[in-house]
Amino acid sequence: MIKKKFDLFVIGGGSGGVRAARVAASKGMKVGLAEGWDLGGTCVNRGCVPKKLYSYSSHFSDDFNLMNSFGWKISMPKFSWRKLVDNKKREIKRLNSIYKNLLVNSGVEIFNDFACFEDKQTLKVGKNLINSKSFLVAVGTKPRKLSFEASNQIITSDEAFDLKKLPKKILILGGGYIAVEFASIFNGLGVDVTICVRGNKILKGFDDDVIKNLSIQMEEKGIKFITGLFPKDIVLKNKKFNVNFGKKKIENFDLVMEALGREPNVKSLNLKLARIKTSENGSIIVNRFFKTSNKNVYAIGDVIDRVQLTPVAIAEAMYIVDNIFKKTKKHFNYENIPTAVFSNPNFACVGLTEKEARKKFKKIHIFTSFFKPLRYSLSKLNEKVYIKLIVNSLNDRIVGLHYLGENAAEIIQGFAVAVVKGLKKSDLDETIGIHPTSAEEIVTMKSKN
Ligand code: NDP
Repeated sequence: MIKKKFDLFVIGGGSGGVRAARVAASKGMKVGLAEGWDLGGTCVNRGCVPKKLYSYSSHFSDDFNLMNSFGWKISMPKFSWRKLVDNKKREIKRLNSIYKNLLVNSGVEIFNDFACFEDKQTLKVGKNLINSKSFLVAVGTKPRKLSFEASNQIITSDEAFDLKKLPKKILILGGGYIAVEFASIFNGLGVDVTICVRGNKILKGFDDDVIKNLSIQMEEKGIKFITGLFPKDIVLKNKKFNVNFGKKKIENFDLVMEALGREPNVKSLNLKLARIKTSENGSIIVNRFFKTSNKNVYAIGDVIDRVQLTPVAIAEAMYIVDNIFKKTKKHFNYENIPTAVFSNPNFACVGLTEKEARKKFKKIHIFTSFFKPLRYSLSKLNEKVYIKLIVNSLNDRIVGLHYLGENAAEIIQGFAVAVVKGLKKSDLDETIGIHPTSAEEIVTMKSKN
């Protein structure tokens, strides 16, 4: 065994871990990082980045139809799944090496191996025994799987990116971010898609009206929904997935994908040996300053199961490094985190839903807008924009902004800055719109509900 000493040792080379490691190293700390898979974590390798690339690809089927309405005549182009997968792989490789260079150039020692704790202060990484003043666990999560007879053949988002070929008919279990985004991707690429949720709607926790509108538009694009039922069993018969939903509903699919949330990647870490406590779902328990029950060990990102979003993990990483260096004891602010679902149409929001706002404030005003954007006005495509603005009547502050429609994430990102800084409805009223755009509706909304 080779013995090594560090000031900070990071376990996990995803967005949060890499950011913490390279910023700490650039400030003069001796930093090591262990990652057994490719650098970049879920976001780069099996999440945000490939998902967005596939989402772009899937939107072209609408665009080809749109072209026609603007006078362009083309025969429907052919889609090659193989080419998309290969191009994606090339891009991800490029990003992996950028992550590696960022770490190496800032002086981080990289260990391409998985880590496990030996005791409270020692970590084993391959043939190395690591001793460090502080450890940071940023190992993320992996897809949660339920038990069905055909479990081994049922895929998750991990496998969906690299399928050998596209199925004709797919069943997606779950109605969260991943289920909805993949449903839109597969639908845009010509697959017959059914989403099955145990409850009565997709994207629980988001604003009800927005979700209702999104579901309608997804249905109009051909996505089917099964609600209030969930497979009793799934068996593979003659290369088809035979799904028994109960209540005498049985259907066959070429492929089934589970998108049922994610669980912490902690199994092989030996957290108990390091006296690191976990919650019931396996996520690492941390205090306000991201310290675990072991005072030398911090944890951030998806593994602490607060807000499972890449930019949040990165912000938590910066917060940790700042805390270690400046000994600042600021609270991390989880309010007003903007987020987007890259469905078709896209959806993004910042702040509270109407339901949350009604609970929190005495009186609120709701402004809504629903229209067909100019871009679609010449075509038969029925894509609509839906905007909901929620205002606290007592001080005129915007407490929620929800946008369903093309470029939702790009639009909400800008407005999120203003919302975080206390944007008021009167500020929007004083702002001149850019005409003709869809986003101008946000500054011209007059009708109160
Ligand atoms: P989500 O938590 O978003 O959704 C999980 C879904 O699975 C829900 O519909 C839930 O139903 C259902 N579910 C969970 N357990 C069961 C069960 N035992 N039986 C039946 N249904 C079940 O998880 P995802 O996997 O979609 O995504 C994981 C996280 O990754 C997200 O929370 C998000 O933070 C992040 N992410 C972010 C993206 C983005 O920023 N665009 C994109 C993709 C992921 P119910 O609602 O009834 O609980």
